[in-house]
Amino acid sequence: MTTLLDGKIVRDSMMGELKNKTSDLEKKLKLAILQVGDKEESNTYIEQKKLFAEKIGAEVLHIRLTEDIAEEEVYAEIQKLNSDTSVHGIIIQLPLPENLDKNLIIQNIDPIKDVDGLTSVNTKLLWNNEKGHVPATARGILTLFDYYKIPIKGRRVVVVGRSQLVGKPVALSFLNRGAIVIVCHRGTSSIMSETKQADILVVAAGNPEFITKDFVREGQVVVDVGINVKKSEHQSEEILHKKVVGDVNFAEVSPIVSAISPVPGGVGPMTVLSLFQNLLDAYMMIEEK
Ligand code: NAD
Repeated sequence: MTTLLDGKIVRDSMMGELKNKTSDLEKKLKLAILQVGDKEESNTYIEQKKLFAEKIGAEVLHIRLTEDIAEEEVYAEIQKLNSDTSVHGIIIQLPLPENLDKNLIIQNIDPIKDVDGLTSVNTKLLWNNEKGHVPATARGILTLFDYYKIPIKGRRVVVVGRSQLVGKPVALSFLNRGAIVIVCHRGTSSIMSETKQADILVVAAGNPEFITKDFVREGQVVVDVGINVKKSEHQSEEILHKKVVGDVNFAEVSPIVSAISPVPGGVGPMTVLSLFQNLLDAYMMIEEK
């Protein structure tokens, strides 16, 4: 029987512990979210973070800047948050408008408060397998593996996707846990033969349901990171039906493999949980300095 890697169950079971730790703190745990513009998708993700914060008793400071803001002004906002002692973590809600340089902006965040783990300091710590903030999706996936007691060491992990936000940190995190890691991307010609050789397959491509039954074999663990909004087949002009699907064709793949994470309800909830675990870590680093 296939095991469902249920991120909601894991998140809910770990939320209580996070809530208790948060309520024991001297100061209120506080995350600052810097948003530029007003993208609907970003607003949804920010709402999810606010909702989670409320559940564990943390605070979210949501700063929304206008799309036409100059890069220097964004830097100035980050500097203010860096020196604000009531703020423990800072995230830049991505994507940013095209005229802003995401990489330059992120480097302005104090690495201790960089709870998305995207500054070069945290990237280097992950590279060196030293303690730092690991990007939330990668941390969440490993937590999912630990919860379901799925061994990692010595196993062949194939990651599809090599983004700075997901693919690369996921690959490094598995490598740091002793796995044999292969990274595939758009330029990989033999994806199907690579994915079939995996013990663990992590897909973060942003390509709706492209991993079909032909990409997998029995006994594999499949983690679907993709979040793709698909228009329903029953689309009418009056009502816009939207359905969220992953990068894996769940109906085809789930009967074959030994474990799989669903979309929604798999990696997504783990990412939010991990962001707040990173925030608590940041609090400890700041207050214990
Ligand atoms: P991205 O566009 O930055 O990177 C996608 C990567 O996938 C690239 O390296 C590209 O080369 C590769 N790729 C795309 N199509 C491919 C194909 N057909 N074959 C092989 N490689 C292919 O995207 P991202 O930010 O890494 O996000 C990936 C997906 O994960 C998106 O759907 C995103 O919404 C989702 N996501 C989910 C969470 C979560 O918490 N569940 C968090 C972040 C991102």
